[in-house]
Amino acid sequence: MTDLRELPRQFHKINKVYVDESMVDVPMARRVRERLQGTVKQDIPWETVPAGTDRVVFEEDGQALYLKEYKGKFLRFCPGTRAYHCCGYRIIHIGENCPLACSYCILQAYFQDRLLKIWANQDALFRELGDAFGADPGKQYRVGTGEFTDSLALEHLTGYSHDLVAFLENHPNVVLELKSKVIDLSWMKAATRTDRVLPAWSLNAPWVHEHEEIGTYSLIERLEAARTCAEAGFRVCLHFDPIIYYPGWREGYAEIIDMIFDYVKPEQIAYMSLGSFRSMPQLKPIIEQNFPKASYIYNEFVPGLDGKTRLLRPKRVEQFKFMVDRLRRHGMDKQMYFCMESTEVWNEVFGYAPADLGGLNRHLMNRAFGE
Ligand code: SF4
Repeated sequence: MTDLRELPRQFHKINKVYVDESMVDVPMARRVRERLQGTVKQDIPWETVPAGTDRVVFEEDGQALYLKEYKGKFLRFCPGTRAYHCCGYRIIHIGENCPLACSYCILQAYFQDRLLKIWANQDALFRELGDAFGADPGKQYRVGTGEFTDSLALEHLTGYSHDLVAFLENHPNVVLELKSKVIDLSWMKAATRTDRVLPAWSLNAPWVHEHEEIGTYSLIERLEAARTCAEAGFRVCLHFDPIIYYPGWREGYAEIIDMIFDYVKPEQIAYMSLGSFRSMPQLKPIIEQNFPKASYIYNEFVPGLDGKTRLLRPKRVEQFKFMVDRLRRHGMDKQMYFCMESTEVWNEVFGYAPADLGGLNRHLMNRAFGE
């Protein structure tokens, strides 16, 4: 049993655990129960959810964990759009929702309950992944878990990433990216191949971190963790998404960009995405309600071809050019890419388009596999 007397800060608000009747005795439920023992949360109530329950309604304060039997597809395509260049990432769906609270988080629009869902039927997940990845060992996959949750925010209790890393040892055609804003490196113990796991952290300007990323680990902690991984032989990914337009953004993004290279070298970075703040129509009122001080949502936004609003193109390009120029001065090059931008924006900022790299999906696959 892991000795955890204190739980990390992201668990402070968790006040209840729900578990599907069919999942009460599975290894994941036993592990979470064991790991909560001996912590400040050892006495939180567990409630069994009877088979056939449509929806769990949690009305108390804080948040609840929900260990659920998931019946859908575990391996999915990232919800990109044909209108812009999408990176072709595949998602391993391990759960939904996040205990952290970033004001810009899209998950607020997806999940309006306060349930942190964990798919506890890992046997089904590994069966599906084994069938997919084993069908053609020559086919490469670049996968990640950080789309509908943070990859590591619940790791302390679930060990999900540790299990995935161990499972993928037998599938060298797969590279797993673990994208997070917390520090939990316990998965490293399961990693026998440093070239098949890409630990990834999102970064932002210090002002954005301080005002808009509640409960997350500091930028320095993230960079220290990236350095630890790089020193252990892993290549890391760093992501600037969302880039926010606020007074003082130049100084802020310059500061964090310069900081990066005190911790890692450009050649230790497999890739880095740059994405301007995007918002589906229903997200803005949710941000207004949940984070009334978030002023960056009042700017010159225009609807894009995918229905999401984006900052006016000249302003996006202004920010991208500033950041790319500074990153290039530190030695960054083809590992930078845009998340959901057009060929025109690529050409204007980078001076080339994804087609010049052989396509974004292929390019990132090559970077992920170190080819
Ligand atoms: S860490 Fe990621 S998933 Fe969690 S609230 Fe922040 S943006 Fe959302």
